[in-house]
Amino acid sequence: MAGLMGAVAPLSPLQTPRARLHHAPGAVARIKVDPQIRAALEGVSAEKIREDIGKLVSFYTRQTLSANESEHTGWGIAAAREWIKSEFDAYSRACGGCLQVKTDVFVQPKSDRVPQPTQIVNVYAVLPGTNPLDAKRVFLVTGHYDSRNSDTFDAKGAAPGANDDASGTAVSLECARVLSRYRFPATLIFLTVAGEEQGLYGSRHFAALLKEQGWQVEGVLNNDIVGGDKSPGQDPRVVRVFSEGITASALESADELKRIRALGEESDSPSRELSRAIAEAGRHYLPLSFQPLLEFRPDRFLRGGDHMAFNDQGFAAVRLTEFRENFNHQHQNVRTENGTELGDLVKFVDFDYVANVARLNAATLAELASAPAPPGKVRLLTKQLENDSTLAWEAPADGRAASFEVLWRDTTAPDWQQVKPVGMQTQATVPVSKDNVVFAVRAVDAQGHGSLPVVPSPER
Ligand SMILES: [Zn+2]
Repeated sequence: MAGLMGAVAPLSPLQTPRARLHHAPGAVARIKVDPQIRAALEGVSAEKIREDIGKLVSFYTRQTLSANESEHTGWGIAAAREWIKSEFDAYSRACGGCLQVKTDVFVQPKSDRVPQPTQIVNVYAVLPGTNPLDAKRVFLVTGHYDSRNSDTFDAKGAAPGANDDASGTAVSLECARVLSRYRFPATLIFLTVAGEEQGLYGSRHFAALLKEQGWQVEGVLNNDIVGGDKSPGQDPRVVRVFSEGITASALESADELKRIRALGEESDSPSRELSRAIAEAGRHYLPLSFQPLLEFRPDRFLRGGDHMAFNDQGFAAVRLTEFRENFNHQHQNVRTENGTELGDLVKFVDFDYVANVARLNAATLAELASAPAPPGKVRLLTKQLENDSTLAWEAPADGRAASFEVLWRDTTAPDWQQVKPVGMQTQATVPVSKDNVVFAVRAVDAQGHGSLPVVPSPER
């Protein structure tokens, strides 16, 4: 254990994303690479993604209010959602009907950015989990297929939305296409939502629906602006992963906030553990030339997105976004001003980049949906003061855990640094002081797939 606290790398004067990646410890490399997941990732096609984004842009506008415009055919958000559904249906036919292709339809009443009642339709495909005891556990990938231009209310003008967010929609579709060739113990949902630009309406409705139906949503990957805009300053080797630190339930509970304050748990929300799992999937399944960059805030500064609708229902949810956004290419009418092209056009999208984002999503979904449920009632035993640390937990009810692992990191480290396999025991003592590190426990199956880690509660 010597050196755990000692090795302090000097800060690089140039904190480029690459430099930050190299500084990220992320030393945990216990989980084995699954050849089946690797094979699934090889199925991801930049060419198919190019076709999908081109098709979505071809509807001219996917502005949510364009659902009320009936005079055009092959135009507008209603045509776009029909096409998305037809894609999911085609993937399902290709896997012998393995996907349940569905729509979540509701009428959004008049509100700030919705001047008249408007039908909103979320289109999604479910790949049911194969293990009855895991099938209620869900991992979900989403993107919003609605678009907008300079005017939030313009339902008739061009709104190509190639990057924002045909790119994220294409990621959801591509994950469905490649992962539907396989089966997983837990359930996967491939979602595309509308109403995002008008106020996250589609995702709010869908997150509430999942809650109402009793799904155990363990991870939501929201891909919004993952086109890798080909402007100077872009770093095509990096996708940012934003995660909240303080949950909605903590905000509503003084006791929970007190516990977080007392234990220093600000950086161990379920969403943050999910972001660390994405980092781990990146290390195992993606080349060093493309890796996630963890951002420990809910979203870009003062901004928001669909993952927050899931966070508000108590679900772990993160946002993936390209490294550097070009604001001339978002929420802009298509035009040229003083020689500068504005508008969210297909020609600015880097399809190889979107394919890498899709691989990162697919690897994370496949790894987590293959893993056992996380251990239950994880405790740090604190009856007596001592410099060793003893943790105890319960095996998950799905009976699929083949071993457990204790993870820990320095209190100032962003990601797990140490892992100790402890076999099938449900209690372990580690010669490290609980005062100096953050601990967690995860369950691992016989093939080496690891669950999301769970941080312990103190047990006196
Ligand atoms: Zn967006």
